[in-house]
Amino acid sequence: MTGPLSQKLFAAAKEKTPGGVNSPVRAFRNVGGEPFFVRRAKGSRIEDVDGKTYIDYIGSWGPNILGHAPTVVTNTIHEVAKDGISFGIPNPFEVEMARTICEWVPSVQKVRMCSSGTEATMSAIRLARGFTKRDYIVKFDGCYHGHSDSLLVAAGSGALTHGEPDSAGVPKAFAEKTIVLPYNDVEALEKVFAEQGEQIAAIIVESYPANAGLVFPKPGYLDLLSSITKKHGALLIFDEVMTGFRLGKAGVQGIENLTPDLSCFGKVIGGGLPVGAFGGRADVMDMLAPIGPVYQAGTLSGNPLAMAAGLAQLKHLAGTGGEGAPNGFTRLEQLGAHFEAGLRSMLDAKGMPYRFNRTGSMFCLFFTDREIVNVNDVMKQDLELFKKFFWGCLDKGIYIAPSPYETGFLSLAHTEADLDDTLTVFDEVLKAI
Ligand code: PMP
Repeated sequence: MTGPLSQKLFAAAKEKTPGGVNSPVRAFRNVGGEPFFVRRAKGSRIEDVDGKTYIDYIGSWGPNILGHAPTVVTNTIHEVAKDGISFGIPNPFEVEMARTICEWVPSVQKVRMCSSGTEATMSAIRLARGFTKRDYIVKFDGCYHGHSDSLLVAAGSGALTHGEPDSAGVPKAFAEKTIVLPYNDVEALEKVFAEQGEQIAAIIVESYPANAGLVFPKPGYLDLLSSITKKHGALLIFDEVMTGFRLGKAGVQGIENLTPDLSCFGKVIGGGLPVGAFGGRADVMDMLAPIGPVYQAGTLSGNPLAMAAGLAQLKHLAGTGGEGAPNGFTRLEQLGAHFEAGLRSMLDAKGMPYRFNRTGSMFCLFFTDREIVNVNDVMKQDLELFKKFFWGCLDKGIYIAPSPYETGFLSLAHTEADLDDTLTVFDEVLKAI
């Protein structure tokens, strides 16, 4: 149960905003309840309007990698805002952001900024279609790439199908150009490329799928995506909106040593302000307007506050990790490993079935003993147990995602003590269930 002020605000919100929220997951419908409203947040903590505080494991769904309201970012925003908030004319921060992205992610030779992850993936798809002069794209069941028409297609599990829209309002004719495949299934991939490889503009994939639990590629799977696209003249688009600048300077492509043709970013590069970016091969990027035939634009693209906030966050991440950690990414891995070790020993002692996937500061706990290969396995977990777990944790001041399909995030503001306190709560809540 949320507090009285949150309840009052949610009732008022529902009168004027569909479902009371501006993005569906915030309505807490997957856990059968109502959301709390935030008054403020600092470091690893959120305080709600009723004065209750929570240790937060969402971090605004990814952007807040330094924790909430880090001074390096808030100071930058205050300073930069004094000189203006939006110009619609090029500003120097855009040049520095582009240079930084290209330097950190070697596959990106040129980059275009936009205002959300959805815009980044939507534009990358249009660009891939324009570059290859082909219409079909391949995506994977359970991968979320934002809500543009071509990508809002997930199709039935398992089978190799042509897309059915996931949402009313998406014309079937659009969705049909999206081929949905089961993730980690080599045979399905090879079959579709053998049959219609010459019509496929691109594969788009979440570099590590993290929107239907956190799922890892089988060894060699990402290499296959790379080689099969090359062989058939299609492009490989890595959606690193969630993983980019979180799992290391070069994201998953750095970890896996891969060179996608295009990559999409968002979240961490905006320091909590609205941002997206897509970039990659210069010959592909140069197809964009104003020098090429593929149109893409944005009133607030390259916004000085978002660029400066993002740059401040990235510099901090690269520069300081505290004691024993050369940079923020190393420190995040230390925190992640600490959390994982504690969680595993607690759950193993209980003898309960679970799976736990983690990489760096991203993690997902599944209440199932199935091996997690793709979204089919994620759907098989004990959802009723998850709901009880979620509300039990929230009640005791731990905020994990209000859905069993979301990935959790650690930030540099979390401490080992926060993580240990969280595990104590997990233990108590599971005992009570
Ligand atoms: N791609 C991925 C992998 C994402 O996780 C998300 C958002 N969670 C998006 C794209 C869309 O980003 P946005 O919500 O900023 O439009």
